[in-house]
Amino acid sequence: MTDSTAPVVDVDALAAAVTKQGGVVKMLKKDGAKAEVLEPEVAKLLALRAEFDAARKAADGNKTDKPFNRAAFDDLVKRKMFVVSAFEIHGGVGGLFDLGPASCALKANILDVWRQHFILEENMLEMECTCLTPEVVLKTSGHVEKFTDLMVKDESTGDCHRADKLLEDFIDSFLESNPTLSREEQDEYRRVQRQADAYTPEELHKLFQKYGIVSPTTGNALTFPFAFNLMFKTSIGPEGVAAGYLRPETAQGLFVNFRRLLEYNSGRMPFAAAQIGLGFRNEISPRAGLLRVREFCMAEIEHFVNPQDKKHPKFASLAGQSLVLFPNDEQLGSGKTRVMTIGEAVREGIVNNETLGFFMAKTWRFMEKIGMDAARLRFRQHLKTEMAHYAADCWDLEIKSSYGWVECVGHADRACYDLMVHSKKSKVPLIASYTLPEPREEEVWVMKADKAVIGKTFKQEQKKVMAALEALTEEGGERVEAVLAELEGPEGAAEVEGCRVTRGMVTWSKVKRMVQEVKYMPSVIEPSFGIGRVLYSLLEHSFYQRKTDENRCVMAFLPRVAPIKVGVYPLLNKPEFAPFTESIVGKLTDAGISNRADATGVSVGRRYSRADEIGCPFGVTVDYETLAAQDVTVRERDSTAQIRVPIERLVPLLKGLVDGSKTWEKDAMGSFPVVRTGEEEEEGGEEGGGER
Ligand code: AMP
Repeated sequence: MTDSTAPVVDVDALAAAVTKQGGVVKMLKKDGAKAEVLEPEVAKLLALRAEFDAARKAADGNKTDKPFNRAAFDDLVKRKMFVVSAFEIHGGVGGLFDLGPASCALKANILDVWRQHFILEENMLEMECTCLTPEVVLKTSGHVEKFTDLMVKDESTGDCHRADKLLEDFIDSFLESNPTLSREEQDEYRRVQRQADAYTPEELHKLFQKYGIVSPTTGNALTFPFAFNLMFKTSIGPEGVAAGYLRPETAQGLFVNFRRLLEYNSGRMPFAAAQIGLGFRNEISPRAGLLRVREFCMAEIEHFVNPQDKKHPKFASLAGQSLVLFPNDEQLGSGKTRVMTIGEAVREGIVNNETLGFFMAKTWRFMEKIGMDAARLRFRQHLKTEMAHYAADCWDLEIKSSYGWVECVGHADRACYDLMVHSKKSKVPLIASYTLPEPREEEVWVMKADKAVIGKTFKQEQKKVMAALEALTEEGGERVEAVLAELEGPEGAAEVEGCRVTRGMVTWSKVKRMVQEVKYMPSVIEPSFGIGRVLYSLLEHSFYQRKTDENRCVMAFLPRVAPIKVGVYPLLNKPEFAPFTESIVGKLTDAGISNRADATGVSVGRRYSRADEIGCPFGVTVDYETLAAQDVTVRERDSTAQIRVPIERLVPLLKGLVDGSKTWEKDAMGSFPVVRTGEEEEEGGEEGGGER
């Protein structure tokens, strides 16, 4: 929020224009364009850059231009109880954190925007599935076998380390202590670093040997890297025989409910299901605050789509969205990102399909909506070696914080892997269908089963056997031919999903049929948000210290996500102010605007500072003039400007400012008497050094 007299400039649009123009210049240079063509484009780029720098400075207004102050930030996060170690008084547990009142409200508001932006706008089907998951589900999905990270142990102490992170950290500190390395050498190290979590144990071991990597804490030798499963195992029921796990992601609950969800959706495809809930991972070395923890909130979407048609009906509406992309060939090559619209990226085949692209653009917009700094966002494509064999394409939305670039939202086209494995294991066909405009002639397999023999042979299992045979028929093609060959072969028997079927029980024939319904197993496109990581990144992106006084720290949350929208302050703790304070609090609460009255006996400036620290965007002060004129001051957090507003107009103004239908510049500064422009230094208080 800026000074009322300054024109409102869209900094994000300018940033996008700069990056876009940068792309134009780069392409021209690459194509060896002539000077008369290149120079005007370079001049355009420089002008845009200057305009962007100026706009950014103006938008930053009160903020210091010093780099991120980790000590001040950590102190604020702790002091204001944004994040606390879980079970702190008992010594805490690595990777487990509690959220305090302000971040609880912040998280709820982020999730509110998420629900609105994804579930409501895209008509998704929301579910809440259980966290406790029986083993069969996670065996089927591949998690029991493959949900692992590579670990090394300190050979003397037995301390555990995540192997890829050790390699990444080693390269960071090696490059820092060897600044004279040539650019080529540095690039080579960075390339190795970018592939850290894609190496096999053997490859990692070789690199550890090559670089002489030892335990960073003891200097001892490390074991050969080995796989460690990240799931928390438990048993379900008192007998202790039914193995289960705390779910490592919410997605499986949606996959196993696919059939019912499709039915709920009246058979219409494509559609998406979504779930917000906890995921649990027994991380080898949790660290970096909320970034790598053992229990965290996830928000996941499973968009089910016909694999033959991954177009998205609303793609055109987002095709013009500019994104910063870090494709896999650039990661292994130049190390540079590219800026392009998602429309271009899909057209050029950089992003696999429209639906995946649609969600990438939608995620970018979500980040902007909650106030993430767009200049610190990028999409990194998975390297081929990093991607599951079945995946068609994967892009992580990474957010830059003081810990570097961190994956916060995965976007994966998982093909039909999940539905296929659950369908095979459960024998429940997880398929969708569509109707052709005209029936067409097709050859299909028709099964003839001798139910009496099957019933007599398999008894209670007969239902399962019939389901397996029907699923096989549904699949048709080579699988049926192979089973037929076995039945007709010397053994006269074949195994169908664990059942020994013999000659005479079943047979198939191919018949020509007019078909109007085409059945298929849907592909899944999955955006998967780690809400803890999003929340932590937002804390960092929102934090700043005032230029006028670095002890005054501010969380510049957008009103929409701010934990408390309005602080209400009687100038003095005197009885004549109380009725006004109470009445304003009541009106704000009735209007659904979260607020907090602060009548503690410290200066109002100090109370403003206190509210700034939890990112409260507006402050209402009841003073002597209120008693006479029935009006109050309203202060805006970032500019510290103040206006005078009649009490009866207060709630509509604040409501509009909070929901974004009104702006501070136009509807507040431009419509009410200004009593402070925000240029003057504000009497404040050092919250940082003060009460705790
Ligand atoms: P994944 O299924 O591994 O792609 O994870 C999905 C999302 O969950 C990631 O994009 C992260 O934002 C988040 N996430 C994964 N592991 C953790 C963790 N240990 N702590 C916090 N967030 C995590």
